Amino acid sequence: MKKMNEMIKNLVRKYDTTNPIELANHLGIIVKLNPYSEKTKGLYVKILDIPFIIINSNLKKEDQNFLLAHILGHILLHFNQDTIFAWENSVFLQGIQENEANEFALRLIAENQTNPINYQLTF
Ligand SMILES: [Zn+2]
Repeated sequence: MKKMNEMIKNLVRKYDTTNPIELANHLGIIVKLNPYSEKTKGLYVKILDIPFIIINSNLKKEDQNFLLAHILGHILLHFNQDTIFAWENSVFLQGIQENEANEFALRLIAENQTNPINYQLTF
């Protein structure tokens, strides 16, 4: 998807980072960890108009990073102003949107192949 690739390149250029936590922060999104059960990989929620992404801290670090990039993809590609809640592993999101969010995450990570990401999610 050409448009998606352009969107990612613009984001990376604008904020000078491929780190999904930094990108989320630049977009006004707060990233948190929480030890959910296996059923919940993570979720997106707006509380008093402030958007949060909450990731299951029981996931492996690489999976946390991928999921964060994946949810950023949903936010940029699929969600709108009215989206106040979305839950990964749920029926809220259609298969095609899942594929697009995965593609977004893979492309974002690929942008940084020459300069590997080295960071951890923290509270
Ligand atoms: Zn998803």
